[in-house]
Amino acid sequence: MVTNDRQQVPFQRGASQALQQIREQMVERLQAQGIRHPKVLDTMRTVPRHLFMDEALSSHAYADHALPIGHGQTISQPYIVARMTEALLNHSQPRKVLEIGTGCGYQTAILAHLVEQVYTIERIQKLAQKTHQRLEALSLNNVEYAYGDGHLGWQAYAPYQAIIVTAAPDKIPEMLLGQLLVGGCLIIPVGEQRSVQTLLKVVKTCGGYDKIHLDNVSFVPLCEGTVD
Ligand code: SAH
Repeated sequence: MVTNDRQQVPFQRGASQALQQIREQMVERLQAQGIRHPKVLDTMRTVPRHLFMDEALSSHAYADHALPIGHGQTISQPYIVARMTEALLNHSQPRKVLEIGTGCGYQTAILAHLVEQVYTIERIQKLAQKTHQRLEALSLNNVEYAYGDGHLGWQAYAPYQAIIVTAAPDKIPEMLLGQLLVGGCLIIPVGEQRSVQTLLKVVKTCGGYDKIHLDNVSFVPLCEGTVD
């Protein structure tokens, strides 16, 4: 786990007073939107979101909407990142988390500050490589990366105490459920594109699964296969 002690967060050094103030405003907005978990708020206060997108867009980095990250994909708005992370931590303090949809790596970085080990899978190779380099440059050393189709999960490190999916399938992928520990939770948006999608918390029980509706959301699709 990367400590939240600001002295020890490497990319915090050199961040300007102004950026800290902008992040503080973002955190105040998250609190007004109902985010309560102190560790989630503290981590979002610390991680430099503007470094996860092209410089041309960085002036919008802390605004409350999704932004393009190339290859037709988007970085989720701060509220959704906070909501999903909070749902995961309110369920338990997982040690190992699998993330499907690395994208630009912002959600990955937030998780890496909060749990011991993150495994993340991305289906677009160029995005996967770029983000791997970005997170290594930020000294996030508790992340393992895979380029592949996240529908299949990552069997080598299963079972996971928690799985988070940052793109929406039409229905919950069976293989992900299979790689979850009993008592563990899957945070996942489900639903067709251009219709209302539902953010679900799915808890694995001895005999099946409990589904809890968290929010209505809008995510890019969880696609089949990989892209070079
Ligand atoms: N959490 C990301 C969100 C990126 S958008 C961020 O903070 O940037 C969703 C990402 O999921 C995209 O990068 C997309 O390429 C990826 N994705 C879509 N289908 C996938 C699949 N089957 N396996 C792995 N990644 C997938």
